[in-house]
Amino acid sequence: MKKKIMALILAAGMALSMAACGSSGSSSSAKSDDAVAAIKKAGKITMVTNAEFPPFEYKDGNKVTGIDADIAQAVADDLGVKLEITDIAFDSCIPALKSGKADFCLAGMTVTDDRKKNADFSDPYFDASQVILVKSGNTDISKPSDLDGKVVGVQQGTTGDTYCTNEDGKNDISVKEVKRYQKHVDAVSDLIAGRIDAVVLDDYPAEQFIEQNKGKIEKVGENLTTEEYAAVVPKGSNLVDEINKVVKNLKDSGKMNEIVDKYTSDSNQ
Ligand code: GLN
Repeated sequence: MKKKIMALILAAGMALSMAACGSSGSSSSAKSDDAVAAIKKAGKITMVTNAEFPPFEYKDGNKVTGIDADIAQAVADDLGVKLEITDIAFDSCIPALKSGKADFCLAGMTVTDDRKKNADFSDPYFDASQVILVKSGNTDISKPSDLDGKVVGVQQGTTGDTYCTNEDGKNDISVKEVKRYQKHVDAVSDLIAGRIDAVVLDDYPAEQFIEQNKGKIEKVGENLTTEEYAAVVPKGSNLVDEINKVVKNLKDSGKMNEIVDKYTSDSNQ
């Protein structure tokens, strides 16, 4: 009898703690079968990004703003919940999803097969490519093959890093050294200071850095890659369908173009 009661108490305790797990904030929903239901229940959706990537995400005071922040807000509004954005290192974003610390990530993140092993991507919302930045007046580098033997700065864990590291030998380049930074802006500072020969990064942020450092740096050569940005969710999360719906609506209604214009028009610089 005593044993039976103990077993019952144990079972009840387990059921209780499981219920507690299911309702402890939206971020724990990442691993649940119905992420959307858990987010609605929690009344908030959590996003991770790296706010070092204008015009997609950057800090305005303490607030993370930019194209991705507006898309994220549209997702939160559609679900009727509060949006909470956390700024972390770019290469920590997918691990944060894997460990259930966030519901999704919008970080100008390019869809790659490697990343697909660890997370799911939404439908793409933006086309992008890697480009080369050099110090203004540099006549040594004018095309991709000129990167051979050069010291090139990249943001760690980005597709620019993959391109320059060229581990699989897919690209026709062989740089002398890939210098990895936590922030694109630090690579750009080192470029201006003459400590590195070039920076390889995404085209839109490159334009913004050129704008912010007028006359000091310039873009050279053709585009190095063809890429697409998409939102990222933990593997199996049904939030992906919700994001796809919102992205489609933003595109179809012309709102996506408005958002992009808002953060790329000259008046915003
Ligand atoms: N698009 C690049 C990538 O996915 C860089 C993104 C970023 O630095 N935020 O790797």
